[in-house]
Amino acid sequence: MNTYGFTKKIALVGTGFVGMSFAYAMLCESVCDELVLIDVNKQKAEGEAMDLNHGLSFAKTNMKIYAGSYTDCRDADIVVICAGVGQKPGEDRLSLLQRNTEVFKTIISPIIYSGFNGIFLVATNPVDIMTKITWQLSGFDCKKVIGTGTTLDTARLRYLLGDYFNVDPKNVHAYVIGEHGDSEMVPWSQAFVGTKSITSIVEKNPDKFKLTDLDEIAKDVTGAAQKIIEAKKATYYGIGMALVRIVKAIFGDEKSVLTVSSMFRGEYDINGVYAGIPSIIGRDGVREIVTLDITDEEEKKLKESCELLKNASEGIKI
Ligand code: NAD
Repeated sequence: MNTYGFTKKIALVGTGFVGMSFAYAMLCESVCDELVLIDVNKQKAEGEAMDLNHGLSFAKTNMKIYAGSYTDCRDADIVVICAGVGQKPGEDRLSLLQRNTEVFKTIISPIIYSGFNGIFLVATNPVDIMTKITWQLSGFDCKKVIGTGTTLDTARLRYLLGDYFNVDPKNVHAYVIGEHGDSEMVPWSQAFVGTKSITSIVEKNPDKFKLTDLDEIAKDVTGAAQKIIEAKKATYYGIGMALVRIVKAIFGDEKSVLTVSSMFRGEYDINGVYAGIPSIIGRDGVREIVTLDITDEEEKKLKESCELLKNASEGIKI
């Protein structure tokens, strides 16, 4: 991995809605110096590179953007994977699994062959399992293979809680953990506005707030993607910004706590599963998972979610 003294380079695989929302946000925020776009549809990658380059004169700093191939991953710091097929209305994420596994087989091996030795960041769904597949196919240390996990779900939760309590979402400290999907859960015992526990705020203000509203908010978070897909066929701006946030944490060696998809290695007695969990992110990827003081009931739900992911990934042919 280069030391960022010279060039911060990203290789983006998959120039669809998600990939290009990420690329556009990268350009607007000038997060890297070099961005190579790779897609099985080369013409699309070329067109996207042209379009982004035409915005360069309005950007904060210069940036080298071009359509390339897997050999260009050789000296990239981060490979971001957004390639694959999206969910159809009514389709759950796990049913996308085998189709996207086949896509990943054609992507990971040429990247490894290029000599790439940076960090993999995966957004393709079902993201927890696709991240595990990337780890398996790459042979990399699991700390260097990360998925977007429940970063977007956590952002959705914070937005909805900010709205409910009428406070800045940035001052809402709450997480969605587990599968990025239907079995994800909110450990309410670990949810705060500022330093005040959300459940105690609700209990002390029964005229204004209700615990049942929190359940509704959690359900709205889980159902958000499907609702957006029904309305506009795909979700992409939020995940694009979540990807930028993770990339910034890596390039800045921030040690930020983000609910990326990380490999459990004994935390909560869970082993060998990738799922969304607060993790400390810096230059070398995941430094460690932050274990929360969740209740027994919350831990049971987290384990069920991870068990579901484990079972779903067991039948895949790699
Ligand atoms: P899209 O169809 O717009 O783009 C997918 C891109 O992948 C296309 O440009 C396609 O040409 C490319 N592609 C397909 N096969 C390829 C291959 N073998 N090699 C290289 N490129 C290939 O889809 P999208 O809306 O951008 O979604 C991409 C993925 O992101 C989906 O799996 C979707 O479910 C997922 N997603 C994840 C989150 C999250 O929170 N993690 C949120 C939204 C979407």
